[in-house]
Amino acid sequence: MKKITILGATGSIGRSSLDVIANNRHAFKVIALTAGRNIALFEKQIRAFRPEVVAVADKKTADALSKKVKNIDILSGPGGIKEVAAYHKADFVISSIVGAAGLIPTIAAIEAGKTVGLANKESLVMAGEIVMKKALKNRVRIIPVDSEHSAVFQCIGSHRPSEVRRIILTASGGPFVNRTQKELANITAREALKHPNWSMGRKISIDSATLMNKGLEVIEARWLFNMKPEAIDVLIHPQSIVHSLVEFKDRSCLAQLSMPDMRGPIAYALSYPDRVEDPIGGLKLHEIETLTFKKPDHKTFPCLSYAYRTLREGGTMPCVLNASNEAAVHAFLGSRIGFNDIPSVIRKTIDKHAVNRGSSLEAVLEADRWARETAENHIKRLEK
Ligand code: NAD
Ligand code: MG
Repeated sequence: MKKITILGATGSIGRSSLDVIANNRHAFKVIALTAGRNIALFEKQIRAFRPEVVAVADKKTADALSKKVKNIDILSGPGGIKEVAAYHKADFVISSIVGAAGLIPTIAAIEAGKTVGLANKESLVMAGEIVMKKALKNRVRIIPVDSEHSAVFQCIGSHRPSEVRRIILTASGGPFVNRTQKELANITAREALKHPNWSMGRKISIDSATLMNKGLEVIEARWLFNMKPEAIDVLIHPQSIVHSLVEFKDRSCLAQLSMPDMRGPIAYALSYPDRVEDPIGGLKLHEIETLTFKKPDHKTFPCLSYAYRTLREGGTMPCVLNASNEAAVHAFLGSRIGFNDIPSVIRKTIDKHAVNRGSSLEAVLEADRWARETAENHIKRLEK
């Protein structure tokens, strides 16, 4: 029986993870959970899965929760979440907090020797080198939960790294795949949140609409699979059936296909190297009929190019990309800036950044703080 901790249990990935566990109670047991502030849902999850310890975002939320559930340790704040991430009885930690808030808990799980099922791509974007070095040092396996990276992980299988020529990440293209830049100018948050194939959290839904999600995933792939940026390509594939491909040195390609449902890659990460019995239902290629692929439009969706640029520049640049994106997406969701302002805020922030190449966690956290402040100044100017 694998004992599982879920960081971000009330989110889209957290809920799908609990669903996989509920359908496979013979194999997995929830031992610890964390959430932000959604205590109504968290209370139900605690009652259904009976974890030994939980943590929430702040003390006020913890106090409110303690009135509803008894006989359980409730911790709070970043310190409490970090403690739960390292909880000694867990074998496996699903890292599915959204954004930069996921970095420190992910590192805590690695340092405590837990196998990590990684959904929080932002931790690798911010500090890929640091996180992968810590995993190596602590002999911890990081198993991708992101569907594209799960696909690549499955395709590489037992092939030697030297046999891999190229990784091709697929992207649905989001809800605006065929729009012009002019048409994007007046898009509302509501329209941008409607993803054609996947139901996801708010931040990643906007990232999918701007193609920044794919940019973050290129950086994630660079670190997970130790690939050079020029060996990672992106193809728009609106049907989201081929989750990614690996091209080997003999030019043979392997791809992984399934219905677009995150419970698939979550189940694979949880059960690796085994597989779970039918977590999402079968693929009906005869109903889908057509699978199409095309190159991304970098001009209309510049965020993807910014990700490649920051990856080439290295050091704290990708962290600045991530933080300025988080600030810009937050401002867009709050109707403070327009859709096309998201890339412009990011561009202005990365242009201004004096890269720090010393790879310490302190440098990363300082770059994150600087980028949020700088991005916020750009946002304020756009509001006027
Ligand atoms: P979400 O917004 O639905 O859920 C986020 C979770 O994190 C919630 O439980 C929330 O309470 C918690 N949280 C947020 N801020 C917090 C903070 N400061 N402290 C503690 N907890 C906090 O997000 P999601 O869509 O589930 O995405 C989670 C992560 O998984 C992201 O990094 C995303 O990029 C990645 N991911 C998501 C999907 C998907 O289909 N949703 C697919 C691939 C990767
Ligand atoms: Mg993905």
